[in-house]
Amino acid sequence: MKKVILASQNKHKLEEIKEILKEFPLEIKSMDEAGLGDLEIIEDGETFEENSMKKAVEVMKKTNSIAVADDSGLEVDAIGNRPGVYSARFSGEGATDKKNNEKLLDMLKDVPKEERTARFVSVISVAFPDGRKMHVRGECKGLIGYEEKGCAGFGYDPLFIIEQYNKTFAELGSEIKNKISHRANALEKLQKELRELF
Ligand code: IMP
Repeated sequence: MKKVILASQNKHKLEEIKEILKEFPLEIKSMDEAGLGDLEIIEDGETFEENSMKKAVEVMKKTNSIAVADDSGLEVDAIGNRPGVYSARFSGEGATDKKNNEKLLDMLKDVPKEERTARFVSVISVAFPDGRKMHVRGECKGLIGYEEKGCAGFGYDPLFIIEQYNKTFAELGSEIKNKISHRANALEKLQKELRELF
């Protein structure tokens, strides 16, 4: 059975990706299980595609196994698609979700509702030992609110309003979020691509 290494330390993402890969004849391993627990990969790309592919290729080279990696973030139209690939470290050194959200609210304080459009992006990359590479991109559209609302999820979830429900991801909770999120969308595409391969 072919081995696949998931190049992420985020438990939540690992579970989601594992669930999708379950139907394929693959032996799934985390970085820890592959003995790469302390491998640090610098995310210095300018796009989600570059960052996720860099992670997948490095792990594939270290293990000579198929590697799957993801990179995600928030793009806000009114501020030139920022924070983008800098989403996790938007508020600088020692960034926390709270500080990142405060910074975003401050930058958007004079922006009217109709211009507060944004999208979450998730790019999942796969690198194969024979040199093949592929990636899929999932997106989820929303609006940035004027204050944090709700307590589920993480990151920018308390600010990200899904218009259809008029609620933030943090108010909607994981059951709905996992059906419509950028990551769910990317994982669905990944599943389709892999069905053609295996
Ligand atoms: P990474 O893909 O683990 O590098 O995550 C990048 C950053 O994007 C996270 O730290 C969050 O700030 C943000 N982000 C990515 N996905 C989500 C999400 O589903 N909800 C809220 N924030 C997210």
